[in-house]
Amino acid sequence: MQTYIVHFGELGLKGRNRVFFIRQLAENIRAALHDAQETEVTPFHSHVLVKVFADLSAEVIEARLSKVFGIAYFAPTVITPADFEAISQAALRLAEGVVTSATTFKVDTTRGDKQFPIFSQDMDREIGARIVAQTGAPVKLKNPDVTVNIQIYEDAAYCFVRRLPGAGGLPVGVSGRVLTLFSGGIDSPVAAHMMLKRGCTLDLLHFHLLPNAELARVSKIVDMARAVLAPHYLAAPLYLISAAPFEAAMADINTRAATVVFRRFIMRAAERLALHRKALALVTGESIGQVASQTLPNINLISQATTLPILRPLIGYDKAEIVAAAQEIGTYDLSIQPYKDPCSIHARNPATWASPEEVQRVEDEIDVPTLLETTLRDYMDEVWIEF
Ligand code: ATP
Ligand code: MG
Repeated sequence: MQTYIVHFGELGLKGRNRVFFIRQLAENIRAALHDAQETEVTPFHSHVLVKVFADLSAEVIEARLSKVFGIAYFAPTVITPADFEAISQAALRLAEGVVTSATTFKVDTTRGDKQFPIFSQDMDREIGARIVAQTGAPVKLKNPDVTVNIQIYEDAAYCFVRRLPGAGGLPVGVSGRVLTLFSGGIDSPVAAHMMLKRGCTLDLLHFHLLPNAELARVSKIVDMARAVLAPHYLAAPLYLISAAPFEAAMADINTRAATVVFRRFIMRAAERLALHRKALALVTGESIGQVASQTLPNINLISQATTLPILRPLIGYDKAEIVAAAQEIGTYDLSIQPYKDPCSIHARNPATWASPEEVQRVEDEIDVPTLLETTLRDYMDEVWIEF
């Protein structure tokens, strides 16, 4: 069995939702460690305690835990009886290899059980002296390289020396469902990642221009969806909708508002799907002024196509910052692979300030309500993305 104290940062602030949050975090940790024989997750003072019964190595378990949203940091922990000798032995064993003559260290004891007969400071001093004797490492109370943590409670003591950074954010599942408009580009995978990090459950929707559903199912979009979800041991449905009926309707129409009309069409389709899926918001990878469709006047027109909130987590980001984020989460290389996005067809000379009258004229001409019906009825497919 391997044990970890998991600190959940923000989760601690959420008052009455705490129990619900911890239950979701526990579920997500179990999913990340799905191949363990058993994973116990229990509330533990202001943290949770994770006990893993598995043949998995510490490296594997730690790599998995580091990807679970909602964990601020976690520490591989040794549990001992609440007894000086036992605690001291455990601390010495943990210090071995980590505390050396080349590092500074301190011991930091907290007594959750004030009945424990030795004061915290005396524990620090006694055990610190033993570690000095064993390793020759100097003690440094302010900013040491290593802190040997000891927490003493009635039934047991918990010792750890390594604090590993978690993925931060909130456990996926606590914030409700959002429908992300997922393109083949750089931005929307980053936007999807950011929503996951804030605890949202994802549905993904992509409009494609591939000849049939079979090709869409093996396109890079599926790989990109997996690249967003799988590192975090998450799954989600990806809806694939053909933009062919829309393109056909637009074929003979000469307008500089085509991109805005298409975006509004996407929003309407997304809204329908969101209602069906009980998603509470739509998400895009838009950022102000990045391309013609993303000027504020056009964003305004696009937003009017739906009454659902449209969340745009990248709205204030520079392209370079989004690229860096995409590289960091590992979607960039897939994003830059060639792909024929529906938007690229009307990309020639699009209006940066489409007129509402022009948009209305085109939408009337192509008969958007009927087009929407046909598209959703006959041109939608669904793939389940699993890790
Ligand atoms: P991205 O890199 O996310 O494609 P972009 O810079 O190419 O962004 P646009 O093509 O203007 O910008 O798209 C803006 C947003 O509209 C995207 O971030 C995405 O949320 C949505 N979107 C664009 N094309 C599609 C599509 N084919 N299917 C679904 N959503 C799309
Ligand atoms: Mg795009």
